Amino acid sequence: MSNILVFIEQRDGKILPASFQLLALATKLTSATGGQTEACVVGDSVSGLTDTIASYGAKKVYTVEDAGLSRYVASQYTTALSAVIEATSPKVVLVPTTAMGRDLASRTAARKHAALAIDCTELTLEGGDLMATKTTYAGKLSAKFKLSSAGLQIATVRSNVYAANEPIAGASAEIQAVDVTFSDHDQRLTCTEVASTSSGVKDVTEADIVVSGGRALKSEEKFKIIYDLAEMLDGAVGASRAACDAGYQPHTRQVGLTGKVVTPKLYIACGIDGAIQHLAGMRGSKVIVAINTKQDAPIFKVATYGCVIDLFTLVPLVTAELERLKG
Ligand SMILES: Cc1cc2nc3c(=O)[nH]c(=O)nc-3n(C[C@H](O)[C@H](O)[C@H](O)COP(=O)(O)OP(=O)(O)OC[C@H]3O[C@@H](n4cnc5c(N)ncnc54)[C@H](O)[C@@H]3O)c2cc1C
Repeated sequence: MSNILVFIEQRDGKILPASFQLLALATKLTSATGGQTEACVVGDSVSGLTDTIASYGAKKVYTVEDAGLSRYVASQYTTALSAVIEATSPKVVLVPTTAMGRDLASRTAARKHAALAIDCTELTLEGGDLMATKTTYAGKLSAKFKLSSAGLQIATVRSNVYAANEPIAGASAEIQAVDVTFSDHDQRLTCTEVASTSSGVKDVTEADIVVSGGRALKSEEKFKIIYDLAEMLDGAVGASRAACDAGYQPHTRQVGLTGKVVTPKLYIACGIDGAIQHLAGMRGSKVIVAINTKQDAPIFKVATYGCVIDLFTLVPLVTAELERLKG
C-alpha cells in the first residue's frame, strides 16, 4: 500500500479532534506497509494549522486556501479534495464520520470512481486489502467489507474509536499548497450564514466527562439537574435516543448507534436503561457510573460503579457535594 491521505476537518480554524484520531490510524496502517501519512486541509486561511497537523503525525500536508472555502460548500470542497487526490495519488483517503465527512466522502468517491465505506468502526489491512468493519442491524452485528484495491479507496471512520497520538512538539511536515480553480458549476451554491444550534455547552465527543440523561428525566426542564452536574465537572451533556425523541434534548446530544460515539474518561448514565444501541455509543468509556432505580437494568452490566437509586435524589446531592468540595 502507498500513501494514506487524511482529510482534516476544521471550522473557523479549530480542528475536529477526530481528524487527529485518523492521523493516528493512518500512521498505524502506513507503518505496516511503508507508505506515508499525508493530510489535506481546506479553508479560507488554514496554513497556520499545518504545524499542529504535523505534530499529530502527518509527514506531508496539502493546503487548499480560498476565501470562498471559509464554510463548507459541498461542490467546492469536493473539487478541492479531488485536486489534492490528483496531486498526491493516495491509495486510501480517510475522512471523519461527520455530517460534512459523509457528504464530502460520498461526493468525492463518485467523482473519483473510488470504493467507499461510510461510518467504519475499524479499518485493518489484510494481505494488502483494506478491510472496513461497520455495524449493522441496529448494532447487533458487525460486518466486514473488502474495499476494491483496483483504484482509490475512501473510508469515513467514527469519532473516538481510535485514540489520537500524543502530539510531538516541533515535528515538521512538508507543506504543499494546491491551487484550485473553481468552475461555475462549483459556485452555484454559496453558504451565507451558519446558525449555531449548540447551547455553548461542550460537545459530547470532545469532553473528558459526559453526564447523560435518559427518558427517566421526563422533561427538558428536569434535564437542568444533568446540566448542573455536567457544569460542576466541566463536562458535556449527553442523552439517550428516547430522551431526544421525546424532545427533552436536541439530537446533537444523542449518544449511541444512531447518535455519537464517545469514549470519555468518565461517563455518568442517569436514568438510562442500557439498550444495546445506547451501549454502542459509550461502552468504550474508561469509567462508567450508572444511576438507575431498576436493579437489573442492562446498563449495570457495563458499569464500573452502579447506584440503585432515584436520580432525582442522587444527582443534586452529588452536584451539591462537588460544589462544597470546590469551595
Ligand atoms: C435502529 C435503532 C437505533 C437506535 N439508536 C439509539 C441510539 O443511538 N442511542 C440510544 O440511546 N438509543 C437508541 N435506540 C433506542 C434504544 O433501543 C432504547 O429505546 C433507548 O436507548 C432507551 O432510552 P432510555 O434508556 O433513556 O429509556 P428507557 O428504556 O425508557 O429507560 C429508562 C430507564 O430509566 C430508569 N429510571 C426511571 N426512572 C428513574 C429514576 N427516577 N431514577 C433513576 N432511574 C430511573 C428505568 O429503570 C429505565 O432503566 C435505537 C433503537 C433502534 C431500533
